[in-house]
Amino acid sequence: MRIDILTIFPEMFESPFGHSIVKRAQNKGIVEIFIHNIRDYSTTKNKNVDDYAFGGGAGMVMMIEPIALCIEKLKSERAYNEIIYMSPDGELLNQAMANHISTFENIIILCGHYKGIDERIREAYITKEISIGDYVLSGGELAAAVLCDSIIRIIPGVLNDETSALSDSFQNNLLSPPVYTRPANYKEMKVPEILLSGNDKEIQKWKMQKALERTALRRPNLMSEEQ
Ligand code: SAH
Repeated sequence: MRIDILTIFPEMFESPFGHSIVKRAQNKGIVEIFIHNIRDYSTTKNKNVDDYAFGGGAGMVMMIEPIALCIEKLKSERAYNEIIYMSPDGELLNQAMANHISTFENIIILCGHYKGIDERIREAYITKEISIGDYVLSGGELAAAVLCDSIIRIIPGVLNDETSALSDSFQNNLLSPPVYTRPANYKEMKVPEILLSGNDKEIQKWKMQKALERTALRRPNLMSEEQ
């Protein structure tokens, strides 16, 4: 999979993409991430990327031209499954969406800043708008990093034990059951006996029961959701 990210703060991706599973996926060649600095596409003398909003009001708006030029260039080089804009008024990101996007070959992710981007970019180029939650961030970079992490970790071959991603919360519309590791007894806080029994059938039953209990208690809406 190839991911092209358009941003005015390229450095913000160094850390999220430089560690752990996302780094491993790139090292294995399973995913390629290219960060494009929108400022490089500005045609103004001072390399501006934002300007005052027509009609007034507080806050700057990201200009149409640098973003359009960058997207046009990328589109002339290859076909993209989706051109995504991270936006608080987009579709809420969930596991089903991440699963679907993880099957794509090429995607562009556009990060806004300030008051957002000129609406004409959304109309002319954007094929999907995604929000990571009902709150406003300063920019799309952290949201894009969240989206990338959620997609990349489930691409086959990224995790060593593939079943591990499939047993996480939200797959099958269930939250994950509680997990424990050694020691089995820490200051009289004990691990549930069943997990030490070696009886795999009973352990699986226990895990399913705990997943159901936890989902019913914390997120009953998941159980009635079609994903
Ligand atoms: N004026 C806009 C908010 C702009 S926030 C509004 O009220 O809707 C600046 C940028 O941060 C946006 O362009 C978007 O790319 C990003 N952003 C902010 N909150 C986000 C969220 N919840 N999910 C995804 N992207 C978000």
